[in-house]
Amino acid sequence: VAGRDRPGVHRQLPPAGHGRRGVLLVIAAPSGAGKSTIANALRASEPELQHSVSVTTRAPRPGEADGVHYHFRSKAEFDAMAAGGELLEWAEVFGRGYGTPRAPVEAVLASGRDMVFDIDWQGHRQMRAAMPGDVVGLFILPPSLDILEQRLRGRESDSEDEIARRMQQARDEISHYDEFDHVLVNDQLDRAIGQARSVLHAARLAVARQPGPDGMIRGWR
Ligand code: 5GP
Repeated sequence: VAGRDRPGVHRQLPPAGHGRRGVLLVIAAPSGAGKSTIANALRASEPELQHSVSVTTRAPRPGEADGVHYHFRSKAEFDAMAAGGELLEWAEVFGRGYGTPRAPVEAVLASGRDMVFDIDWQGHRQMRAAMPGDVVGLFILPPSLDILEQRLRGRESDSEDEIARRMQQARDEISHYDEFDHVLVNDQLDRAIGQARSVLHAARLAVARQPGPDGMIRGWR
């Protein structure tokens, strides 16, 4: 079980003196599948879990605060961040720029804590390439496309055009579920939250994330 006997494990060791290597939990889903509810519940029960605050060029919605829900930036500021290497990944979603700031992710990883990302399939793909071995991908499916449409209609704020556009986006997002490590169907919220928590807990137990500074599994004598 000794890490020192395993080729490759040493490459993944965190800097000496820090805890185990953190998990970067990327959660993706079509809008209306319950992703934010599940991510919020995870954060509530896992006080150590950090949340990545993305940068976006879209306008804040009522109730959204700069630096809390997103860092709201102009297109020029966003482009400068991307060009300067400040974003770990970025993508255009609904015609707006969205990106993940790099520095907080590196700080969280170095401290041995975990981080949850509420980003789309394009972000997941880029994160896997940028941080190989650190990313765990979880995709949340609605019970069916019909039920997703009912949920979108239940919001009553969107026009027919808007609902049709969101349904097309949902089909696009869903077509990428098989790029993720884990997939769950959110047909019962409590169960879905429990399943998401299980994914995080299992990821923490990965052999590659656990070697301590001496190469042994942490906590094992
Ligand atoms: P919303 O505008 O509704 O908050 O988010 C729209 C979509 O953008 C969601 O699917 C969300 O997951 C995605 N998104 C939010 N932040 C990021 C990001 O930093 N990178 C990427 N690739 N997608 C993001």
